[in-house]
Amino acid sequence: MVTDGRLPGPCFVCSNQTGARIGDVWVCATCGWRYGDVPDYDLPLPVIEVVYYIRYDRRVKIGTSRRPRQRLASIRHEELLAFERGGRRVEQQRHREFAGIREGGEWFTLTEELRAHIATLRASGDPWSLYARWFSETLRS
Ligand SMILES: [Zn+2]
Repeated sequence: MVTDGRLPGPCFVCSNQTGARIGDVWVCATCGWRYGDVPDYDLPLPVIEVVYYIRYDRRVKIGTSRRPRQRLASIRHEELLAFERGGRRVEQQRHREFAGIREGGEWFTLTEELRAHIATLRASGDPWSLYARWFSETLRS
């Protein structure tokens, strides 16, 4: 039986509090972490490489990072639009794909084409929730 509700406390991985109870186990609704599980501290924490899409005015920067929280804190932007899982290879592929609207460096014009691509990525969920899910999945595997 599954009951939706509040976790007994914040999720270890993503700090969210909504969850589902399956039998006597609570599972985080955002990232899927089993409430009460503690990772093996002898193992390194997972590194999730992401391609990020951030907007400043009418421009979008497409870049990659292994530490998106720190990276985004250091770049002036107005909005995080999306995350896509992947590193340098995916980033380069997107840079080639959108070469026609490149303004310079890693900045691109926010055209309908780019907007549509970002909408596809966002369909899987809000960027930080997705990131939490990838992190949680990797930590559990
Ligand atoms: Zn969680």
